[in-house]
Amino acid sequence: MDLTSLTIDAARSAVQERKTTALALAEAHYDRIQKEDGQIGAFLTLSKERALAQADRIDRMAAEGKPLPPLGGVPVGIKDVMSTRGVRTTAGSKILEKYIPPYDCTAVARMEAAGAVMLGKMNCDEFAMGSSNENSAYHPVRNPRDLSRVPGGSSGGSAAAVAADMAVVTLGSDTGGSIRQPASFCGVVGLMPTYGRVSRYGLIAFASSLDHIGPLTKTVKDAATVLRTIAGRDAMDSTSADVPVPDYVAELDKPVRGMKVGVAKEYFGEGLDDEVRQAVEAAIDKLRGLGCEIVPVSLSHTPYAIPTYYLIATAEASANLARYDGVRYTLRARGVKTLSEMYRRSRDEGFGAEVKRRIMLGTYALSAGYYDAYYLKAQKVRTLLTRDFDEAFRKVDAIVTPTSPTPAFRLGEKSNDPLAMYLADIYTVTADLAGIPGISVPCGETKDNLPIGLQILGRHFDESAILRLGHAYEQAA
Ligand code: GLN
Repeated sequence: MDLTSLTIDAARSAVQERKTTALALAEAHYDRIQKEDGQIGAFLTLSKERALAQADRIDRMAAEGKPLPPLGGVPVGIKDVMSTRGVRTTAGSKILEKYIPPYDCTAVARMEAAGAVMLGKMNCDEFAMGSSNENSAYHPVRNPRDLSRVPGGSSGGSAAAVAADMAVVTLGSDTGGSIRQPASFCGVVGLMPTYGRVSRYGLIAFASSLDHIGPLTKTVKDAATVLRTIAGRDAMDSTSADVPVPDYVAELDKPVRGMKVGVAKEYFGEGLDDEVRQAVEAAIDKLRGLGCEIVPVSLSHTPYAIPTYYLIATAEASANLARYDGVRYTLRARGVKTLSEMYRRSRDEGFGAEVKRRIMLGTYALSAGYYDAYYLKAQKVRTLLTRDFDEAFRKVDAIVTPTSPTPAFRLGEKSNDPLAMYLADIYTVTADLAGIPGISVPCGETKDNLPIGLQILGRHFDESAILRLGHAYEQAA
């Protein structure tokens, strides 16, 4: 049995049936990391001690014949924006280089309570700001399919690790596309749940009205299993919703025949790569072949999504990142004479260029005299974008689009042109702004073997519909 190419169910039952052990699974993954990750760069920190202790606990359960929990023995990786007790958590930033959280993120705690074995922490763009993982303060991540290309971002390490079989599952975070876009670039499944579906307690905040936690996996079914594990109200996060969590896995096999699937012309316009367009159109045909009814819908405010997102996200980031002041959370500049010099120098030394750019943009957008013209206006456009979706979801059960306008680009290709980088988020930011769930499912490859992603968007709290469609497509494809 190849221990590093298993899905959740295969891994869990192999441990349950004593065909292997959780320990052997963890070690096989560490061997693979040792072999592959030198060139890929997906991990920032390994948490071997914690992983082996958990694996041992699971193996003892299996030896006693106790039924294993849903993720029993499954090796996972956690994006380094989620706090892990006793395990360094950097958010990809120098300013948190030595930060060791005293508590666990709820999503991580729920994964471990369900039996997951945490191998380590995944590389990412600094404070999750980026689309290529090149903004990590440590090192970039390379796309396992083509090492000259980016894995996407900001959850680049999370996507690359699953694609390269260095973890069965990882958790990522999505503020403007950071789970779905790297999933599409690396050829894995990435699910962003509805805003409020998964607790953000312990997630290092980027933009609080947009941040989500979700899984990156090898199959849609695995995404359903992880969502079931991490979803649901958490008293530690007042923004987590008290909405019943369905059994996503049980609902996967409900028929998709008769489902109404929307296609919006605004997502097939200028800038869309030809091969991506063809692959997504072929996927739409496949859904039609499965008995879905394809319905044209209009999302007419889409052209305003990028400026709206980059005002709201930067404004919230400027507020959230004010807490890194050199007083708490590690990095403090040395040799300073005054308190204000200490603040300035610590932030100057601790933050990278993209983070500084965003703090400045956001602070400007919130400043007296500009607030109405920028931040307030962006909030109004956000409402219009949300209404577009409300309107569309009166007619359809889901909407399909490309996840990203292009396949993975080359390292360095866009890193000197922030605007070009921001424009690449065109198809993903809308779901974050509207708070609706979205999933990216692999839908073919370019001539150069680069993965292409199909994005499926759903109604608020209706992850079941997009998981079901994604699963049906995956089985048919
Ligand atoms: N690429 C987007 C940005 O740079 C989205 C990032 C994210 O979702 N965390 O802000």
